Amino acid sequence: MYVPMKLILEDAHKNNYAVVAANAINFELIRGIINAAISENSPIIINIGPGQLAKHGDAEIFASIVKSFACRTHIPIAFNYDHGKDMVGITEVFRAGFSSIMIDASAYSLEENIARTKEVVRLCHPHNVTVEAELGQVGVAETGDGARADLYTNPDEASYFVEQTGIDALAVAVGTAHGKYPAGLEPKLDFDRLTVLKERLQMPLVLHGGSSSGDDNIRKAVACGINKLNVWTDSAVACRDALSRALRENSEIDFIQLMGIMEDAVRENITHYIHLVGSSGKADNFYKAPADVFAAPEGGLHELKQSLRQGQLME
Ligand SMILES: [Zn+2]
Repeated sequence: MYVPMKLILEDAHKNNYAVVAANAINFELIRGIINAAISENSPIIINIGPGQLAKHGDAEIFASIVKSFACRTHIPIAFNYDHGKDMVGITEVFRAGFSSIMIDASAYSLEENIARTKEVVRLCHPHNVTVEAELGQVGVAETGDGARADLYTNPDEASYFVEQTGIDALAVAVGTAHGKYPAGLEPKLDFDRLTVLKERLQMPLVLHGGSSSGDDNIRKAVACGINKLNVWTDSAVACRDALSRALRENSEIDFIQLMGIMEDAVRENITHYIHLVGSSGKADNFYKAPADVFAAPEGGLHELKQSLRQGQLME
């Protein structure tokens, strides 16, 4: 089912787990990610950013692909615009039917960030579209931004920011960064800060730069209150490595086979992250029917649910 991201994140917030937000730039990646979620009976968020959309996609076509997949399965699926920067791009994806929009005005002053974020909330909330915003700066791994404590989210500012804007989820800067970390470097996360942010805000928190930030770091970040984990770089690396391995083994390999190998690679990577964030089985939390309907020994919705869960998309 196609849902506002808020619905997914509120359940994660209430039940102390996180959901993977996986970037996808083509049909095979979307399908691989959704099939990973179906196999794990987990909610999932598909992400795409402005640059990815401009180079590889189209807001309306991608939204209809994600919605069509979502309508074929019982698991909750949201489609989020990652790091929206301006109202032109944001209005385009809003019209196309994305179920969530992130406005990233984190590079501006606090007041300017608030003003820009509020504009997006005003557009989205009357239509039940979720809004995520960022405070502090997650930055770029290669340049070492993740280690710059001066860019981390300040809890006092965060309370004020959330109160002023009315956003649904906040991306926090606590030590991770976007992209690939230099070889051998595992980021050091400020878990104390994260714990304080969760206690103060009592709302869904988002960790960007999840790729390769270390399995223990991710488990602990989820335990301290992260409810959405963004993953892109690791999916891209997994796809590239799988394709390069296949081509090394057989340079005449059929192109269609390569596409299948790419899809399997992203599916495997996202399954790994679903395990880490603890969202396996959590799709069950979203059924509205009374529990005794599903508990019935035979027939009715129970059987339908089982057959949906066993089924795979597009097979
Ligand atoms: Zn990000």
